[in-house]
Amino acid sequence: MSTANLRQPLSALRRTLSASWSSRRLTLNGRLYSQVSVAGIPAEALQSLTPSQVSFIQNLPKAELHAHLNGSIPVPVLLELAREHKSTSTSVSSHIQEGLKKLENLELKDLNDFFGLFPAIYALTATPAALARAARGVLSSFLDGDAPQSTPRATPEMTREEYVETVAAEVERYPEDKAALIVSVNRTMSEQEVEECVGIARRIVGIDICGDPIAGDMDKFAKYFADAKEDGLGVTLHIAETTENTPADTLRLLQFQPNRLGHATFLDDEAKSLVLKNKTCIELCLTSNLLCKTVSTLEQHHIQYYLAQDHPISICTDDTLPFQTSLLAEYALLLAPAPLGLGLSEDAVRRIARMSLDNRMSVLS
Ligand SMILES: [Zn+2]
Repeated sequence: MSTANLRQPLSALRRTLSASWSSRRLTLNGRLYSQVSVAGIPAEALQSLTPSQVSFIQNLPKAELHAHLNGSIPVPVLLELAREHKSTSTSVSSHIQEGLKKLENLELKDLNDFFGLFPAIYALTATPAALARAARGVLSSFLDGDAPQSTPRATPEMTREEYVETVAAEVERYPEDKAALIVSVNRTMSEQEVEECVGIARRIVGIDICGDPIAGDMDKFAKYFADAKEDGLGVTLHIAETTENTPADTLRLLQFQPNRLGHATFLDDEAKSLVLKNKTCIELCLTSNLLCKTVSTLEQHHIQYYLAQDHPISICTDDTLPFQTSLLAEYALLLAPAPLGLGLSEDAVRRIARMSLDNRMSVLS
């Protein structure tokens, strides 16, 4: 059984986290916030804040509801895995070597460089032990602010079930209200693969659809998502993320009765009215949208529409590694004065953080 589909770019596993930030690793001028490198747009917003504003967003109870595992592995963990990979592997393909060299020499300049790194990330997390370390690093970067610990090496090759079990075991190191897991199914998966993903449900709170916006027959997925809902799993869907997602595709996905929606950047009026009527929480990833150029400025971001409608939203990172951001920095974008941020009041930001907590999915009892 292959795990390849489960480890596609931007599509593997997601986890929901209640982030409680540690200030130990926060250095504003060094651009190191916890273990996450923050640069560009979110870093400028963060740097524009006063120490008391930074402390306000640090101490704000909030949940990260949309962060992909493979796109959020801290660089030090990747480098450590790369060093071990080099010492144990006789045949490392040239594209992996190239990606790792760039990472080691801090030569990653733009998004393409980062996305080009994904084949290397899959290769480095192909064993349960390496995957566990990566998952631990991700969880730690969101929840602890401590250096990730090592775990022993184990046998290579994983089934999909082993993959989820490995990550779930790391998630379970935290209390239920601190960390949980969402399994993303790729739009290109077969029915059999979707059925298998929906069936693996230990410390998993929900299921998601992502991947190529024009791929896959969503009609075939419907019954598995209905089953998942019946079993008590939450449903969140990457929806209308690009202009390639058709209105018909969006309406089809909304029939899955999702609890939350990822991005929802290009909803038409009909879709918007359904979302407003159902009060479906929108997971918004500001830096991701700006860097992927699906939204050109914060002023034009659809967060403005949902704020005006007083509609539930949650602020999320999507992929901290390529977008060089953190949850703290995404919240800085809310608070920083325009044009660096949205210039919202602390009360408004507190309210948004509360909405993220209110829209967490709960672990099956
Ligand atoms: Zn995403």
